[in-house]
Amino acid sequence: MDAREQTLRTAHRLADDWLASLDTRHVPAVATVGEMADRLGAVLPDGPTEPAEVVELLATAGSPGVVASPSGRFFGMVIGGTHPAALGADWLVSAWDQNAGLDVLGPTVAAAEQVAGRWLLDLLGLPPGAAVGFPTGATMSNWSCLAAARDEVLRRAGWDVAADGLTGAPAIRVLVGAEVHESVLFALSYLGLGRPERVAADGEGRIDPAALSAALAGRSGVPTVVVLQAGNVHSGAFDPFPEAIAAAHAAGAWVHVDGAFGLLAAASPRLAHLTAGMADADSWTTDAHKTLNVPYDCGITIVRDPDALNRALGKHGDYLIRSGTGDPTDRTPEFSRRARGVPVWAVLRSLGRDGVGQLVEQLHSVARTVVDGLATVPGAQVLNDVVYTQVCFTLGPDARTEAVGRRLMADGTAWVSGSRWRGRAVLRVSVSNWSTTADDVRRTIASLAEAVAAVDASAPQECGVPAGR
Ligand SMILES: *Cc1c(COP(=O)(O)O)cnc(C)c1O
Repeated sequence: MDAREQTLRTAHRLADDWLASLDTRHVPAVATVGEMADRLGAVLPDGPTEPAEVVELLATAGSPGVVASPSGRFFGMVIGGTHPAALGADWLVSAWDQNAGLDVLGPTVAAAEQVAGRWLLDLLGLPPGAAVGFPTGATMSNWSCLAAARDEVLRRAGWDVAADGLTGAPAIRVLVGAEVHESVLFALSYLGLGRPERVAADGEGRIDPAALSAALAGRSGVPTVVVLQAGNVHSGAFDPFPEAIAAAHAAGAWVHVDGAFGLLAAASPRLAHLTAGMADADSWTTDAHKTLNVPYDCGITIVRDPDALNRALGKHGDYLIRSGTGDPTDRTPEFSRRARGVPVWAVLRSLGRDGVGQLVEQLHSVARTVVDGLATVPGAQVLNDVVYTQVCFTLGPDARTEAVGRRLMADGTAWVSGSRWRGRAVLRVSVSNWSTTADDVRRTIASLAEAVAAVDASAPQECGVPAGR
């Protein structure tokens, strides 16, 4: 066996061991970054080490600091699992080592991404002629879509931002819902658009279409962008697209939808009602590394008018060998890029249309079983209407909720982390992993019930409520 073969076999065995350990391992890491940095090497070695030995060292020394985020009991943030077809394809992407920026550098990966893009538009009911790009995540997809939006609303106002920049340009209004995701704010400031105007939202975090109409009234003619949301990170709620998009379009605005984990609801016959009217927007963001369960990283940019995306992100350079029909680099911020759309092709090819719908429905039905489980936990109160994959709950006073959250994370059976929503401390369960089973939910609820009992039995100062409560 040569060094390469030995290294890949070692990596394969270690990857198998890691995946097999997910069912029993402590979900949060059990070591800090500082501890792991010490283990991985204080001093750069002077001489060489066999590649296989390095991979072995990484896995063994690194083990305590690896979070079991692909585990079926990881419910933090919005973190997808890893579908086997996507993982296998991702290994090939590394071995092939294609630069996916230009068609000519990788016809197979460029084609796989084109096919994946077409399949996604079909699955999601989006315009078949839309442009699709594969940046690192929803943050860069939001950025890409909003770059196209900015340039297009200025172009309609007679201003060429690519040539003349923003200095002296007509002011752009950007309206977002009160519970907009932070990544949209980041994208807007990066694009030189500053802080947007926030429009009131209802109790589930959905933008209020009447408030949006009122904010837009009498200002048509001003270049305007409206950002809506498919999937609120606390409630999972979807904005009322038909009313909101009609109001925005009546005012001549570009409408962007941040659907980092919610866009995929459109692929399910049972959940597609949540996305009704969404296809009338001008651009859409989603993450394949969330609901679609490809390994990190992969966001998806979708823009109705391919020319608008091309004007914003298209690149020119004499040494680039161009396809003539537009290359992948014209649809993402990057020049050079990993072929991260290939795992998307693989998971769609493996699941098929029905399988993608069932995946999303399963995430929703697991979220419903979490609600049922919470009904058995003393004092647990679900705050949101669980229409999709997010469950947001409290255990009464903030101090009790926070103390239970700390106990739960220290126990390590599951990852259920805290946040603040509607002015209260909450715990969030985000169901985003295809591999989560009923048994994972049972073990998570059991760990939660133990944490509640332990907090209630502990000194009042830990939880701020009387002992024995
Ligand atoms: C996760 C998320 C983002 C950011 O996605 P990244 O993939 O982390 O860049 C944006 N919007 C929403 C609604 C999200 O859930």
